[in-house]
Amino acid sequence: MDLKARLADVDARIVDAARSAGRDPSELTRIVVTKFHPASLIAELRALGVRDVGENRQQELTAKRGDPAVAALGLRWHFIGQGQTNKVRAIRAAADVVHSVDRARLADALDRAGDEGAPVLDVLLQVNLTADPGRGGVAPDGVEQLAAHVAASCPTLRVRGVMGVAPLDEEPAAAFARLAATGESVRRVVPDARWISAGMTGDFAEAIAAGATHLRIGSAITGPRPVHG
Ligand SMILES: *Cc1c(COP(=O)(O)O)cnc(C)c1O
Repeated sequence: MDLKARLADVDARIVDAARSAGRDPSELTRIVVTKFHPASLIAELRALGVRDVGENRQQELTAKRGDPAVAALGLRWHFIGQGQTNKVRAIRAAADVVHSVDRARLADALDRAGDEGAPVLDVLLQVNLTADPGRGGVAPDGVEQLAAHVAASCPTLRVRGVMGVAPLDEEPAAAFARLAATGESVRRVVPDARWISAGMTGDFAEAIAAGATHLRIGSAITGPRPVHG
């Protein structure tokens, strides 16, 4: 299968999963994760109608967004990787949505990194769905407090919802159900924060069934990632 066929196949599977869950496929945003692939692949994706792309490393995001092959294509860039406070200026300059806000310090730094008159930045609160506190994301019982902090203290950020990655050692449906519950706790603080970023190549159907609104799909569409040193 080539890129076009893989994209069409994934989109058909998204529609199937949405219909089986009694959901309208048009309410789902399919983000193509292009990490490790060249900007030329993003240009090919754009020609196939893709608008939303995701990157997990700031340097790669910055380089690709500034690449002449894609700069004028009107893409929406999603930063889905671990955020470092010393990179917030570059993240903010290159991302339209940041999916990985998982601590107050990072939110504060992102907030301060906005230039005068910069547009409000859409952010998602990343939830750690594993039992390992060392993984990225805020623990589920800390999400509401983080939402309250961002809403009260970060005027240039807009909390849109939650993001999560299903652990490898658990049924994705169970993990995504927990993520949806944390989304509800965020809405006690920010009532219109309805986005749920969940679902990758291996589990996007389960994520759709659990209410995901933003799917982050890489290899099923792009093919295997180039080996990276
Ligand atoms: C790489 C990545 C994805 C996409 O993974 P695939 O399994 O290739 O679909 C999704 N989310 C995050 C946070 C990632 O880093």
